[in-house]
Amino acid sequence: EQILQVEGLTARVEDKVILHEVGLTIKKGETHVLMGPNGAGKSTLGYVLTGNPKYSVTEGKILFKGNDITEEAADKRAKAGMFLSFQEPLEVPGLSLESFIRSALSEQGRNKMRVWNFRKELKAAMEVLHMDPSYAGRDLNVGFSGGEKKKSEILQLMMLKPDLAILDETDSGLDVDAVRLASEGIREYQKENPDGALLIITHSTRILDALHVDATHIMVNGHIVASGDASLVDKINREGYEEYEKLAQKGE
Ligand code: ADP
Ligand code: MG
Ligand code: MG
Repeated sequence: EQILQVEGLTARVEDKVILHEVGLTIKKGETHVLMGPNGAGKSTLGYVLTGNPKYSVTEGKILFKGNDITEEAADKRAKAGMFLSFQEPLEVPGLSLESFIRSALSEQGRNKMRVWNFRKELKAAMEVLHMDPSYAGRDLNVGFSGGEKKKSEILQLMMLKPDLAILDETDSGLDVDAVRLASEGIREYQKENPDGALLIITHSTRILDALHVDATHIMVNGHIVASGDASLVDKINREGYEEYEKLAQKGE
C-alpha cells in the first residue's frame, strides 16, 4: 500500500525551476534513500513534499495516503502524518523541546497519552539517543550543538511517529558515535511503527549501515536520473555522480 506517490512533480522557488518532473513512490514500511550532488534539489524536494510556502508546484501532483495534497498547507500535511527533519534545525526561544513535541502531538490529535506516560516515553527515547534528560526542558535547539540539534530531530521522529519521515542530512556533521545513536533512534522508530516510511537524504553510508534500504534514488539538476536497490548507495560511494551528471545533461 502506498504512503507517498509523486507524479511529474515540477516545482520552482521564486522564478527558478528547481524540480523537473520528479516521480517517486514509497510504500508503507519502506526506507528510501535520496542521494545527489550539492544543489541537486534534494532539500527542495523535502520542502515541496511538506508544503513549504516558498516553493510552488507548477506541474504534477503529490498523493499522501491516497489523498491529493499538492495544494494542501504545510500544517495540514504535518497533522496528516508527514515529518521533515531539517538540514539546519530551527532554534525556537521560549518553547521547550518537551512542550514542542507535546503540542505537535496535540495538533495531530494524538495527545491521548497522560503526562506521566508521555514523560516516561520521552525519557526512554532520550536514553536511546544518549541525550541528557535536562534537554527536555531547554528551549528548542537554542544553544544546542550541531549534533544535539540533529539528535533533537531524531527524538521528534521517535515521539511523533509520523507515517512518512523525510530526514534531510540528519547525519551530516555528526561524529561516528552520534551517527550510530541517530541510526539506533531511526531503527527504534521503525520497530515501533512498522508501517512508517522513510525518505533519507544523505551523503554518507554510515547512517544506513544498520538500516534496511528498500530503494535508492539519484537526483541531479532536479531530475531523478536513476533508481535502484541498496547497492546503488555503494556504487555512488565508489564512483561518485559523474556518470549520472552526464545522463542529466543528455536529458536536458
Ligand atoms: P540540495 O539539497 O540537493 O543540495 P537544494 O534543494 O538545497 O539542493 O537546492 C537546489 C537548487 O535550488 C540550488 O541551485 C539552490 O541554489 C536553489 N535554491 C534553493 N532554494 C532557493 C531559494 N530560496 N531561492 C533561489 N534558489 C534556491
Ligand atoms: Mg521496512
Ligand atoms: Mg540539501
